[in-house]
Amino acid sequence: MNNTELWQAALGEIELSISKANFSTWFKNTTILSRENGKVVIGVPNGFAKEWLENKYNTFIFRALRNFQEDIKEISCIIYNLDQAPQGNEIKKIDSIAHAVAIPSGITNPYSHVSQSANTQAASVQKAYENNINHRYTFENFIIGENNELARAACYAVSQNLGKVYNPLFIYGGVGLGKTHLLQSIGNEVLEKDPAKKIKYIATERFANELIDSIRNQTVNDFKAAYSAIDLLIIDDVQFLEKKEKTQMEFFHIFNALYQINKQIVISSDRPPKAIATLEDRLRSRFEGGMIADIGQPDLETRMAILKTKAAEKNFYLDEEALRFIAENVKNNIRELEGALNRIVAACEFNNKLPTLKFVQQALSEIISAGKKKGVQPQNVIDAVSQYFNIPIKELIEKGRKKEISYARQIAMYIMRSELNASYPGIGSQFGGRDHTTAMHAYEKVSKDMENNEKVKEDVSILKEKIYSL
Ligand code: ADP
Ligand code: MG
Repeated sequence: MNNTELWQAALGEIELSISKANFSTWFKNTTILSRENGKVVIGVPNGFAKEWLENKYNTFIFRALRNFQEDIKEISCIIYNLDQAPQGNEIKKIDSIAHAVAIPSGITNPYSHVSQSANTQAASVQKAYENNINHRYTFENFIIGENNELARAACYAVSQNLGKVYNPLFIYGGVGLGKTHLLQSIGNEVLEKDPAKKIKYIATERFANELIDSIRNQTVNDFKAAYSAIDLLIIDDVQFLEKKEKTQMEFFHIFNALYQINKQIVISSDRPPKAIATLEDRLRSRFEGGMIADIGQPDLETRMAILKTKAAEKNFYLDEEALRFIAENVKNNIRELEGALNRIVAACEFNNKLPTLKFVQQALSEIISAGKKKGVQPQNVIDAVSQYFNIPIKELIEKGRKKEISYARQIAMYIMRSELNASYPGIGSQFGGRDHTTAMHAYEKVSKDMENNEKVKEDVSILKEKIYSL
């Protein structure tokens, strides 16, 4: 996981445990600035956010991050200017600033070190959300579009007939496209009809951690017994089972125990079962034995409908032009779309202005990537990469697997993502209809390589210059 993905995933978790108002107030415009040797530096927009994140929400943040990255030991926050958000090869520079000015908050072990109030709050949250179902995510406030129609219908059907129609139900799709929302909706719907039903929503990483704890405390049997009493088990982001053999094995047993007595299991993942590389075969075939539905990228119309609804929920009015402008420019996922809306609402309140098209354009200008602003097209990137590496465009686009060609192709994909803010499926289609996971992988790989390989860094920066001087 790169820093952006890690933070998005952690935000997803945090969002489930605190109120919406608090979440958008304190976590808006935050980002991971650096991560090194288990130390994470979070960039926050102002001193208030720094204080709250460090003092009140440190445990949440710590736990959420550790769910995805076990080696995290320390968190600190620094105030940073949004304009300096890390992008590509600027990461290093910001790293050193962060180290120079980071104010160590000393959150090394949240379980022994946290303040009393944070502890009490964590405990009460735990109690209130024992089944981890968040009332905010319902079928009623889930907007149906072509991209999620099937997944939504399958989830709804399951909620009406636990264990009877599709078992297991496997939902997959990219980050921020509504998987958790749908999974949680099932839980809410079932509880509304029958509050006595035993439901458990759990993120895979947390499941793995709890299992490890139970092994350590010699309470594995209790752990398993608790699961076998469940009517509906929802397990989110199952791709994190990858490389965790012991967890897979235990999960397999729990899965079977529930499955055999017709208890419902719902699973989500960022990719289909066959694409989870180290998934044990018997688990994979279990997953494939039920219903599999994907959630794709929302089209413009769906993005506009979602925005309109989210704005209405906030009693905020945006006219058609402004809605369209936002939806046309923020298209990677719904989480980003909500982020953009929150930013506009805050900017309007702060400046006491109405959200006219002009105002919205200004407020969003910071998050719309440089390449997009300058009108650079994907084809410009392909042309520049082809010229620079001296590889014919045709070979760049077609299936060739030669090392130099795939390197150049990955760089092109990386630039489309980082500079043009293109969606992964969009990038895939620029390269002969490749799968979105290929584009995702290329982006991750180049991001990582840029951190420790000067040559890669240089190639990207020269290419960026070329593209912007067109
Ligand atoms: P994922 O689990 O796939 O990463 P989430 O379910 O967390 O994504 O969705 C991210 C945000 O977008 C959530 O706030 C969710 O409520 C919202 N969202 C996603 N899809 C929809 C939709 N179709 N209608 C309304 N809100 C949506
Ligand atoms: Mg999710």
